[in-house]
Amino acid sequence: MTTPDRPAVEPSAHVASGARIGAGTRVWHQAQVADDVEIGTCCTLGKSCYFGSVSRIGNDVKVGNHADIFGARIDDDVMISPHALLTEDRTPRATRPDGQRQGPGDWTSTPVIVRRGATIGGGARIAGGVEIGACALVCIRGRGSARRSRARQGLRQSARAIGWVCRCAETLDDQLRCPRCARVYELAADRLIEIQPGP
Ligand SMILES: [Zn+2]
Repeated sequence: MTTPDRPAVEPSAHVASGARIGAGTRVWHQAQVADDVEIGTCCTLGKSCYFGSVSRIGNDVKVGNHADIFGARIDDDVMISPHALLTEDRTPRATRPDGQRQGPGDWTSTPVIVRRGATIGGGARIAGGVEIGACALVCIRGRGSARRSRARQGLRQSARAIGWVCRCAETLDDQLRCPRCARVYELAADRLIEIQPGP
């Protein structure tokens, strides 16, 4: 299948004049892309999702309906599920200490970083400054977000590690083997290294 040479943007979406969107990317109804946002090729931006200024999105990224992304750095092949929230400023205020309204230069940008191939589950909330490792799987279980990861992460606060996942997103067993695709891993310095490739 050939890639279209232009993005496809629904008429009800709003893409700021300073935003850049790559070829083959689809922008669905009522999505909003702020100024100075870069989005790569062949992405899907779901209904009513939002990209705050200075967000950087790679290629082949899928963003679900109603996801809110503020100033994040997102690598290729990442999945952001519906209603996920990625914040940017860890100390937000409506006004400055002198009582004046905060303007664009008053926000402290500490973007969420999502490494290649990771998945952010539906409704997950990721605080600014957190880095999600390659192929990590962040999901909601009970109170707050929990993660399963195949790479070292910095996810803190209410999140906790509950295991390791394969490149295919299946949970590894106690011997770090994937029951779905037969890949085998080992741990080195708390990083998962693939020692037997899949089919
Ligand atoms: Zn697998």
